[in-house]
Amino acid sequence: MTTLDVAGIAVSPDHYIDGRRVPSDQHFALHSPIDQRLLGRIAEGTAAHVEAAIVAAQKAFPAWSAMSAAERQPLLDRFAEEIGKRADDFCTLESNDAGVLLSRMRHGVVPRAMLNIAWFAQHALTLQDRPIDTEQAHHIVRHDPAGVVVIITPWNAPLMLSTWKLGPALAAGNTCILKPPEWAPLTCSLLADAAHAAGLPPGVFNVVQGTGARTGAALVADARIARVSFTGSVPTAKAIAQAVGANLVPCSLELGGKSPFIVLADADLDAAAATGALMYRNAGQVCLAGTRFLVHAKVADAFVAAMRGYVEKLTVGDPRDAATEVGPIIHPRQVERVTGFVDRAVASGAQVLWGGAKHAFGAQYYQPTMLTGLKQSDEIVQNEVFGPVLTLQTFADDDEAIAMANGTDYGLGGVCYGETAHATAVAQRVRTGFIWVNSFGIRDLAAPFGGIKRSGVGREGGDWSFEFFCDVKDVVVPKKPFQASFSHR
Ligand code: NAD
Repeated sequence: MTTLDVAGIAVSPDHYIDGRRVPSDQHFALHSPIDQRLLGRIAEGTAAHVEAAIVAAQKAFPAWSAMSAAERQPLLDRFAEEIGKRADDFCTLESNDAGVLLSRMRHGVVPRAMLNIAWFAQHALTLQDRPIDTEQAHHIVRHDPAGVVVIITPWNAPLMLSTWKLGPALAAGNTCILKPPEWAPLTCSLLADAAHAAGLPPGVFNVVQGTGARTGAALVADARIARVSFTGSVPTAKAIAQAVGANLVPCSLELGGKSPFIVLADADLDAAAATGALMYRNAGQVCLAGTRFLVHAKVADAFVAAMRGYVEKLTVGDPRDAATEVGPIIHPRQVERVTGFVDRAVASGAQVLWGGAKHAFGAQYYQPTMLTGLKQSDEIVQNEVFGPVLTLQTFADDDEAIAMANGTDYGLGGVCYGETAHATAVAQRVRTGFIWVNSFGIRDLAAPFGGIKRSGVGREGGDWSFEFFCDVKDVVVPKKPFQASFSHR
């Protein structure tokens, strides 16, 4: 067994299949976004690894799915505890490979990862107890596990998003194959150690490392799988939808966003500005961030001044430093993408309110940026940048704000600041999967999460996760003796 030493943490670069580590003779290099140093070489999943993982997951399915949710719960609680025991290691690894702030890992991501496993294990207990009683019959509504589930996650939040899918998939009685993001695969590998220590039976949870084009594509194209749960970009989602479509395998797609951040004339401008600065969290590499500021023309100058005050105080730097608020961009390719978006916008007439260039801290750091002087049809208004780059447009009334908010192909989230009743009314007319009124980022595991239009297909969270990961079945038991008749409806 090979082991990498990443900032003093021992982590396996290998796959985890059928309860054991499986090496590969092919690898890909992993570099840190902090300073481009080589973190190690990670196993590339070949066709043989994909085959072994599917066979292992299939073999484990009968016993795991035959357990009741109550029998699975203690094992999954132990899994959550084992994540907690490794909290420091998870923090260090994801900070090093994904550039996530160490403080955010410790206070936000790791506790949430534990909850993702334990909460869904608890929620699964409520599923088998929802009969529908009519005069005619008793309907036993069953949530049966679907089979082998493939989970594919992106680099911007690998631990959080992998557990958000694994929790309900395992609690429902499925067996899982996780394909981690190749730019930030380390915490998913450590997750396998936690599952192993918790005593999850071999084959119930497998990790196959690899690139999307090769390993990911091979997994989703296999007809033996029962579900694909994907979070990532629109082009990849289209490729996956085509692959699973060939086998009619259901998929759930959580995709990108270009969410509006609306500031109404009656908003508390200082509160809106303070929340606005949060959009630079994770260097703007957050799917649900409000990245298009739509501000009432009457308050635009005052809002810009207030937000500038907050942005000027942001500390850009090493995500491992406690004082840092904005860390690096994941990969040189993403730096190029961000730079390209800004440079093209400026070349076609956009004005830079702040930022607009790389940050002096290092090669993969970009200044928190705000552009204005844009048309709704402009590339940077219409497309997800996925970096610390925001746009600002003004509007004259609610109808114009809503038309602009709804005027992209995306529909993931949104933020609306204003007098509460007014902001709530406007928020309800914005076409997205969710929207926060006078706040940002409040989540509950019971609530639905997902996007409309190009931002996704399906919903995750609470019952919605189980509707996806289960075969819902109606067992109909008549209350009176059934009279066979051709005229019966
Ligand atoms: P990506 O689509 O490039 O990659 C996501 C995952 O898909 C990776 O694990 C990758 O290896 C895999 N993959 C790539 N090609 C594949 C293929 N042909 N078949 C199977 N798997 C394949 O996305 P990314 O750049 O890693 O992530 C950024 C994107 O994710 C952004 O668009 C962001 O908005 C989105 N995102 C959405 C949410 C949400 O909940 N809606 C959350 C986080 C990120």
